[in-house]
Amino acid sequence: MNAADARRLARSLEALGYTPSKTAEAADVIVLNTCVVRQSAEDKALGRLSSLKKLKQENPEVIINLMGCLVGVYGNPALQKRFPWVDVFAGPSDPEPLLRYLTDRQESAQAQSWRQQIDTVLDAEFGVLIPGEDRAVSENLPVVLGCSHACTYCVIPLKRGKERSRNPEKIFNEAKTMVAQGVREVVLLGQIIDRYGLDLPTGSPRLPDLLERLSTIPDLVRIRFLTSHPNWMNDQLIDAVAQLPKVMPHIEVPIQAGDDAVLAAMRRGYTNQQYHELVAKLRERIPGVSIATDIIVGFPGESEAAFQKTYDLLADLRLDVAHLARYSPRPGTYSARYLEDNVPAEEKMRRFRLLEDLQEGIVAEINQAFLGQSVPVLFEYKVKQRWYGRTPTNRVVFVESDEDLRGQERYVTITWTGPWTLIGELSPAA
Ligand code: SAM
Repeated sequence: MNAADARRLARSLEALGYTPSKTAEAADVIVLNTCVVRQSAEDKALGRLSSLKKLKQENPEVIINLMGCLVGVYGNPALQKRFPWVDVFAGPSDPEPLLRYLTDRQESAQAQSWRQQIDTVLDAEFGVLIPGEDRAVSENLPVVLGCSHACTYCVIPLKRGKERSRNPEKIFNEAKTMVAQGVREVVLLGQIIDRYGLDLPTGSPRLPDLLERLSTIPDLVRIRFLTSHPNWMNDQLIDAVAQLPKVMPHIEVPIQAGDDAVLAAMRRGYTNQQYHELVAKLRERIPGVSIATDIIVGFPGESEAAFQKTYDLLADLRLDVAHLARYSPRPGTYSARYLEDNVPAEEKMRRFRLLEDLQEGIVAEINQAFLGQSVPVLFEYKVKQRWYGRTPTNRVVFVESDEDLRGQERYVTITWTGPWTLIGELSPAA
């Protein structure tokens, strides 16, 4: 979501004639887009903010925009006192404060035409058109902003505001604009993306309808979406993934913990057993599906026995990806206010490492099965001599080739596998 917000702002600035700068020192405008989902992300943002203070002292003309969840949709006046070297504060997904600030600094003769350009750019949202520019092959496209779920540990609803489904027409047009500029894969984003449409005036279209409509865009090759919630991943959505060839068989559906009491304390709304049933259903209905999960270790009150249930769940389900996190209390959340952060930091780290090692072994084994197989890979860019691409199940594949493979989907025979990447050779044309 932050990557999509940052791209949107960068494109808006480019549409107004700004060009990217290689270093912060050489820039006229610096935007620091921030995440506070965990303490470590917040610490990183605060560290970068202090280094920008020095830059502002050396070059008082530089414009600094602090954006994202550190500010939040409801604003945070305390930040202005704390970071006086910041010129503009903006919440997540909001380029407007910076664009208005830049307009106010224009000579009066130009201000009017700037204002019009800015209105056009703001209206285009994620579909800002940059003449002559090739987009990345894969682009993120937010479809649900904010979140209204009440997971006890999560700060997102406090920072990104309540759940808002974006206008379907707008999404369709933005995707078309992206594709016209070279995008071949769109990744639809939402905190609980399966809920798309529920808050629209007529309660529709829903996510399966949106996937079907986007599938009609001729040069769009692949569609992905994330993140799902186990309670909202319903049969219609599973059927849409199974039946629409452009929708990739990769589902991101976090469990967060294996123990039912911890899941209840997190207010996730499902049990370990229900998650098992969902995984079984996904595997039955979507052949070859890959499933990614998120897990938090060290939630308040997570005993050794409770943690063991998470370990057993991962060992048992053999999922394709596990995004692991150590619990950190986020100010304002229920868990930070009412539950004691009582798993020591070293113990959180030990549990994290145990899961990391377990998952690495599982993924290495799963990937081995790809050895010798021919799989379709959509190529995105070249790093040194090797092209970077991904399989339908989102596995990274590197291929050495002198051909220009950018934006092409080609069959690749896998010759080497590791836990994080595969290597292959272009398969002979069929
Ligand atoms: N909306 C998705 C969901 O409901 O699971 C993902 C939201 S969040 C951006 C990504 C992940 O960060 C979560 O799935 C969770 O594992 C992790 N996370 C959120 N709050 C956390 C916290 N306080 N401490 C540690 N990890 C956290």
